[in-house]
Amino acid sequence: MSLLAALAASALLAAPAAATRPADHVFIVMLDGTRPDFLRRARAPVIHALAAAGTTFLQAETTYPSQTRVAFVSLPTGSYPGSHGIVGGDEIKDASWKDLETGNNDPIAAQALVARPTFFEEAAAAGLTSIYAAMKGYELVGAKGATWTINGKQTLDKTAYAARYAPEVSGSVDLALWYKQRLSRDLLDQTLALVREHKPNVVVINLGSPDYVAHTWGPEAPQYLHTIEFVDGLVGDLKAELGRLGILERTAFVISADHGFSDVDPTRMIAPAGDAARQSASADRAHTLDPLAARGIEHFVTNTGGASMGVYIRDKARVAEAVGLLRREPWVESIYCEPAPAHCDVSLSSLHSYFPGRSPDLMVDLDDDATLNFPQPGQHGTHRPSDMRIPLVFSGAGVARGAVGGKASLVDVAPTVLRLLGLPATVLRPDGHVLEEALAH
Ligand SMILES: [Zn+2]
Repeated sequence: MSLLAALAASALLAAPAAATRPADHVFIVMLDGTRPDFLRRARAPVIHALAAAGTTFLQAETTYPSQTRVAFVSLPTGSYPGSHGIVGGDEIKDASWKDLETGNNDPIAAQALVARPTFFEEAAAAGLTSIYAAMKGYELVGAKGATWTINGKQTLDKTAYAARYAPEVSGSVDLALWYKQRLSRDLLDQTLALVREHKPNVVVINLGSPDYVAHTWGPEAPQYLHTIEFVDGLVGDLKAELGRLGILERTAFVISADHGFSDVDPTRMIAPAGDAARQSASADRAHTLDPLAARGIEHFVTNTGGASMGVYIRDKARVAEAVGLLRREPWVESIYCEPAPAHCDVSLSSLHSYFPGRSPDLMVDLDDDATLNFPQPGQHGTHRPSDMRIPLVFSGAGVARGAVGGKASLVDVAPTVLRLLGLPATVLRPDGHVLEEALAH
């Protein structure tokens, strides 16, 4: 922190004059697990007004696998998982099958695994300051160079956090819903306390409530729409506070999400991990697929997300055989592999999600009649449009008014944010490009 502060101070003279920047502040509000079709349908006057006054991309996508941990590194690096190296969920192995700690316990230590620079580092080099407010904690794997961080796993109310996936609390569905929404309310309050003190230039905040609600009751449940409307109110509170601080006119907003959601059958669990594994006879079985085990193919199933799995195969000569066996399973929707044997759908590298020496040999998307880890009616992680599509709205200082764009990727956000701040992108090495149509000219 002190090194960063010194770096920031020494770079102050080199920072571009404020007048040359389209915006002095960029607030990136991530609505975890919010589908764009539901956001359009919701009574969300604040975000709808931001969209009307700004630029909306109607075909924006996250990166694959469509998962929080992966997306929250793609966002600040502007790069795909195949470039930044955070290719999945809790359990990633290196080339020698050694487990890599990907940030559940210490997200700051896990930053060493991130192979691309972040826009926080770019901002710091120019003397600008930043906040990364993480709901789940492990998002901070992508926080390299952020001036201030909040780890919600440690700072938020313990009782509400423990109940984030609970369908009832003390027998009450309403109390369970309120706890889920309160986590976002509290994270925003903690962020605003820092904002009032420091008026930072770049802020990323992850409002996790929609994700918790959709996992718990499914995206079709009324609680999901209700929660999207609740977080819209939080965005309104954020705007009002920036107005009171006198920085609203010089602020650009980005409203987006890390992934969408699929409605799945929670009663059909494949290779259950976590709590379910402890209930089964053998924890090892949780990382094993019967059809592969029956043929003696040594493998390991990772928990990359509730609807997609990674499979490491020890003997690379048997990858094609494993694909052929999995093809016969009714719960398999798509199989991606590297290198792509004949019967894989496409290669992992064509999805920009192959990181040599770290990626699983196969990624398997589950059909929506099955779930991978937990018996939840809402899941994500696959390459299906319902999981991949995300909202993407730019609005405010420096943004084109009333514009509508088509395709865009989460990896385009970082280079576009740097342009809005008038920064040259000399540190960032993005795969994405500046979304020129979102910029005021
Ligand atoms: Zn989720």
